[in-house]
Formats: sequence, C-alpha cells, structure tokens
Amino acid sequence: MRPPLGLYIHIPFCKSKCSYCDFYSVSYSELASDNYIKAVISEFNRVIEYFDDITFDTIYLGGGTPSLLTTNQLIRLVNALIESGRLEKKLEFSIEVNPESSNNFRLYRDIGINRVSIGVQTLNQNILNNLNRLHNSKQAVSAIQNANEFFENINADLMIGLPSQTKADVRHSLLRILPYITHLSVYMLRLSEGTKMMMDIDSEILTPLSDDATIDQYDLIFDKATKLNFNRYEISNFSKGVKYECKHNIKYWNCSESIGLGPGSHSYINNVRYDNPSDIKNYIKNKACSFPSTFECCKPQSVSISLFEAIMLGLRMPVGINIEDINNRFKINFLEKYKSVLKTIDDYVTLKDGRLFIRPEYLTVQNSIVIEFLDY
Ligand code: SF4
Repeated sequence: MRPPLGLYIHIPFCKSKCSYCDFYSVSYSELASDNYIKAVISEFNRVIEYFDDITFDTIYLGGGTPSLLTTNQLIRLVNALIESGRLEKKLEFSIEVNPESSNNFRLYRDIGINRVSIGVQTLNQNILNNLNRLHNSKQAVSAIQNANEFFENINADLMIGLPSQTKADVRHSLLRILPYITHLSVYMLRLSEGTKMMMDIDSEILTPLSDDATIDQYDLIFDKATKLNFNRYEISNFSKGVKYECKHNIKYWNCSESIGLGPGSHSYINNVRYDNPSDIKNYIKNKACSFPSTFECCKPQSVSISLFEAIMLGLRMPVGINIEDINNRFKINFLEKYKSVLKTIDDYVTLKDGRLFIRPEYLTVQNSIVIEFLDY
C-alpha cells in the first residue's frame, strides 16, 4: 500500500516584493486570488482522480503569502480538501503567516490548521527595511505572541548573513522569540541575480556579510537554541522535541512522495518529478501545461539521480541515512559502491548502527561533503 503523501499548496500572492526574494509571486488582488482558489481546487480534483490510491497526512500552505487569503477563500479550499475524503485522520496542517497579515489565527485553528509558521526574519528594524519586508519588529513579536493563544506548534523563520547584521542582532531576535515558539527555521541569505538586494550590493549601497561572519551567527543560534532544549534535526531546522518536527518537510528530506499544487510548485510521485510552470494566468485558465499533462510529459527520474538526491537530502539531517533502506530501495551495496568516497570523507562522517551521518560540527559544510557522491 502506498504511504500517505505530503500536499503542498502554493499561494503565490504578495503585497510587495522583498528585496532578496526570487520565488515566484504575483501582486495580490482579491479577484485574482478568488479565481486562483478555484483553479487550485480543480487541480487537486484532477490529481486525486488520476491517482485514485493517494491520501495525504501533511498539508502545507506556503507562498507567497497564504495569510492574504480571505476567510471565504480559505474555507472553500479547506472544505474541498476535506470533502475529497483523501485526508488522513492524523494530519499535520501548516500555514505560512506574514506578521503584517496575522489576524486570523482563530480561523486557522477552527478550520483544522494545527501548525503556523511565521516569517519573522529579524527584529532589527533597519534590516527589516533593507529587506523591504512589510512588517515591523513589533508586529513580528505580537504575531508570535498572538499565535500562542491558539496554537501549540509554532515555527518562526529567522534569516542570518544579512548585510549589516551583527551577532548581537541575531542574539536579540533569537532570545526574544524562542520563549513563544516550538520550532525554528534558520535561513542563510542566498543572493540571487535580479533581486533588489543584489542590485544594492552591486551598486555598493549594501555590503554583503562574509561567510565567516554568517557561520558565526549560525553557531550562535545553534549554541543558544540547543541550550534552551531545541534539537537540530536538519541543518536549518530546530524543534522542541520530535513532536514539533515538521513532518511535511521531513518527507522532502526523505525523498517521500508529495504533490505540489499551483504554479511553480513541484511534485514527486511514481518516481517522476514534475514541475508546474510558473505561469498563473494559464494556470487559472486550466490551459496548457496543467496536470495531468505536466505529469505525463515527464520521464521517470534516472536511478542515479534519485540515489544522489536520497543521499544529499538524507545527509542534511543529523540522523543521516539508513544504509539498509538505501540498499533495498536502489538495489545496491552502498558500502561497496561508495568505498572510495567514504575513504575521502572519512574525517567528516560517522558510520554507526547502520546509518551514515555527517558529524555535527561539519553539517554547515554539508554541500561540499555530499558533492563527493556525485557521478558515482
Ligand atoms: S513575502 Fe515571501 S514570497 Fe513574498 S516577496 Fe517576500 S519573501 Fe518573497
């Protein structure tokens, strides 16, 4: 029997563009988001009709800005998901919330959402301004405090490696929010071509932070968070015990099957990875390149790519990969196949109780370790 899948629903609307962001997003309007919800429900129905054996035990409403959806839109969407009969009883249901549009926690709880993820990023107001975020630091703190009235499972996103950000800024933001959350995601700034931040750096309005300073900030977060009983269960993610680990994201790191709805979203099912084109206009019209054609035009993923992905993503987690699982899944003898790689990376990894994992002190350089597995 097929295990339950994860369901990602992309809500691509934003009220303005953050200076570092290269995600697919479009300007918000109530009419556009109304039509969009209809199209998402339609795609969902086509997917479950096509794969008549799939159910879901995690749902993630991500964006964009899902907290811009109106009460009516959210209720319509959630009702369609429930009425499908494809949701497992034990369901992790997350929504991303931006602090400036965080006044609907009661509604979220009442419709069955049980995890909220709040985009705090930093509490330094000057840096928030540089990021072109719409919220201020007070709104960010109020959002996580208010979420506590309705939710137990609360994530906050923090960013590090930002121009002019200091360790003191990071410490302040972290210590201010930790008492109110059960999960923390830490993102290192990734500069992308074409973003406003990249242009500001190119024209020397902003100065990028060095890699060493960014790693120092990460180490500070690791140190403080672990002292306050947060466990790092993935390079960028900490939770107050297993109960609060994000089951949806764990599916990605374990290369489990998942469906993504909406333009720019990705799915993985029956060993096929397929991407929805980032084109909301055609998506709303259910026109070209919509499911099932997006699925049917993709070839099954090659075994070597799937194997590399399983190793690369699995090694993002401190528990690493289960060698026997990998052997069974890919019909290989892992230790034999990667004998010379394991010799090369011996100083950075541990092989214990049938698992291979990167030693905690080297997790931040995981990329340069896993690259050794490429092309084998
Ligand atoms: S709110 Fe999120 S998706 Fe929208 S522009 Fe900002 S970072 Fe990008």
